[in-house]
Amino acid sequence: MSAYPLLLSPLRIGSLTLPNRLVMGAMHTRLETLDRPHERLAAFYTARARGEVGLILTGGFSPVPEGVLDPGGPLLNDAGQLDEHRAVTKAVHEAGGRVVLQILHAGRYARVPGCVAPSPGKARINAHAPRALSTAEVWDTVRAFAVTAALAQDAGYEGVEIMGSEGYLINEFTAAVTNRRDDEFGGDFDGRIRLPLEIVRAVRQRVGRDFVIVYRISSIDLVEGGMTGAEVAALARRVQDAGADLLNTGIGWHEAAVPTIAASVPRAAWRAAVHNVKRAVDIPVMASNRINTPEVAEDLIAAGVADLVSMARPLLADADFAKKAREGRADEINTCIACNQACLDHIFTERTASCLVNPRAGREIEFHDAPAARPHRVAVVGAGPAGMACAIEAARRGHRVTLFEATARLGGQLQLARRVPGKSEFGEMLRYFDVALAKAGVEVRLNTPADAVALAAGGFDDVVLATGVVPRRPDIPGLEHPKVVGYVDVLTGAVEVGRRVAILGAGGIGFDVAEYLLSDAAESTEPSTFMQAWGVDPTGTTAGGLAPPVTHPPRREVHLLQRSPGSPGRTLGKSTGWIVKARLRKAGVTMHAGVRYDAIDDAGLHFTVDGLPRVLAVDHVVLCTGQEPHRELLAALRSHGLRVHPIGGADQASELDARRAIDQATRLALAL
Ligand code: NAP
Ligand code: SF4
Repeated sequence: MSAYPLLLSPLRIGSLTLPNRLVMGAMHTRLETLDRPHERLAAFYTARARGEVGLILTGGFSPVPEGVLDPGGPLLNDAGQLDEHRAVTKAVHEAGGRVVLQILHAGRYARVPGCVAPSPGKARINAHAPRALSTAEVWDTVRAFAVTAALAQDAGYEGVEIMGSEGYLINEFTAAVTNRRDDEFGGDFDGRIRLPLEIVRAVRQRVGRDFVIVYRISSIDLVEGGMTGAEVAALARRVQDAGADLLNTGIGWHEAAVPTIAASVPRAAWRAAVHNVKRAVDIPVMASNRINTPEVAEDLIAAGVADLVSMARPLLADADFAKKAREGRADEINTCIACNQACLDHIFTERTASCLVNPRAGREIEFHDAPAARPHRVAVVGAGPAGMACAIEAARRGHRVTLFEATARLGGQLQLARRVPGKSEFGEMLRYFDVALAKAGVEVRLNTPADAVALAAGGFDDVVLATGVVPRRPDIPGLEHPKVVGYVDVLTGAVEVGRRVAILGAGGIGFDVAEYLLSDAAESTEPSTFMQAWGVDPTGTTAGGLAPPVTHPPRREVHLLQRSPGSPGRTLGKSTGWIVKARLRKAGVTMHAGVRYDAIDDAGLHFTVDGLPRVLAVDHVVLCTGQEPHRELLAALRSHGLRVHPIGGADQASELDARRAIDQATRLALAL
């Protein structure tokens, strides 16, 4: 019997029967706009359909030009656009899948001049101020949704998802804070929810019974003046009665000051909000946000919280998620670690989405996994993310691979990352690599520092040098003082850090160390602690689901310093940097930018800022001052005539992250 009997059981949604309850949630990839025609997009969805996901929801297409997410953003309002869509639906159907098009009007989040909203009032996250729609224009918008739904039906989609959450146009109508209208689309609650109800009715009338309508409801707005839990439940019932077949749930507006999907959000943290919707209706309800394993999904269904589970990023991380779960190979799932580094952060910086743990995502047509023409003997030196990824991919192609690791454990920098509060998901990467190495038949030699002479004698055709990085030692008088410690010793717990700390270097690791020193790691996975810290109302009764946050005195006095001017934290991820910065601000961390380090001695850290000398009386100074490539072996290997391929940090340490390391490693393995 399957370990996930509920997740893998069929479910009827309106006229459609899904083979399982795992749905790929809507997510923009930017392939919709940057890849025309949609060859990459079709390949991306096709891979997920082959991987047996029950249903795919596309990224959102606007029904009107003023509702696109940004200039040139996805729009479906004309039959002339259908050929591209037909290519996608045909490819998905041929792969045995089902696909629903999301209709998304971005409202005041549309980053275009002339964006519109229920009432005037600029969103904090958009430079463009919207103009209020007239009553006649609201009715035009209702008709536009119906036209787009009909076009989707013509294009061969199984249905549409009407995007009513995350603070986009429909959600702006349903919340009093953004809807101050006094016509039939505003005023009291009935007026505010009229737009979604009219849209669902108009779409149903246009497409008939045999076309699926999914409505994505904002199950908790997480903004002041948002809907209460009772209002959400009432809206859910009315949307059902208007003709929706399935309710998907959204969590929080994009401008909410509460993290909703980052790794620091505990898994399935939003189950109470989803359950509130589920209890209100008879049609199926889908849970979303921070669900990344089949166990969590199964549990949500078993507990009666939801009937289906939506996963967007986990399906980027592993196209074969559902198939592996069905075949009893869940331990082989490449788990999404909720880092956002290659998906959301790419999308927010005008790049197409991919995945840190799976560089093939969104790049399916670039990777050709053909077996090696001639199997090589390959030595991989270093079992960090780059070395492990390269070893696995090369072995899968038929090469005979030996992986040498000097320490007793796999993982390299991953072993440090997983210790940072809110980053425990990195442990899943280690589990995946461990299983995949064994499955691929890589010979792993732990506690084995590689040696050029031995490798030369070993008969290897290729040596992949993945020895990673060493922390940079800056040139500061007093660096040998016992107060000075490296970040490795801090994160491994090798040193007992005092109460007053100065962290030199405000890059990703500097911020990680500050979090580590200030948080209690055990707290970060506890949902109630998370809710309290971020001011979420666990009862769901307040407007927007907000409550006063609970604060605790910080565990330490922490100073974070950098030499460059400007605000520290600019190099952090676009979608997650604000969370870390908010936490450190709450914990009273003092930031110092534009400093010159003068000395470290018994008095503490001496530095100069704005021409004035200062001293911080601290117990410890933690060095987080960047990395240098660790590649001592390179010259010796080459001198023995070996073909050496440096990758990851051993190749280039600056701006290294696991995404770049794994991508480079995978591409090398496919070229060997
Ligand atoms: P980093 O982001 O490059 O930061 C290094 C810091 O050290 C900078 O703040 C730099 O600032 C300072 N520095 C550089 N050379 C120095 C010197 N000679 N003396 C004194 N200070 C010096 O590197 P990292 O923090 O080690 O992180 C390594 C990589 O991991 C990065 O690419 C990062 O993106 C990634 N990472 C990301 C995250 C995240 O996004 N959450 C977390 C961890 C790691 P000044 O030169 O201004 O002093
Ligand atoms: Fe998940 Fe990170 Fe991949 Fe995005 S980049 S899908 S968050 S693992």
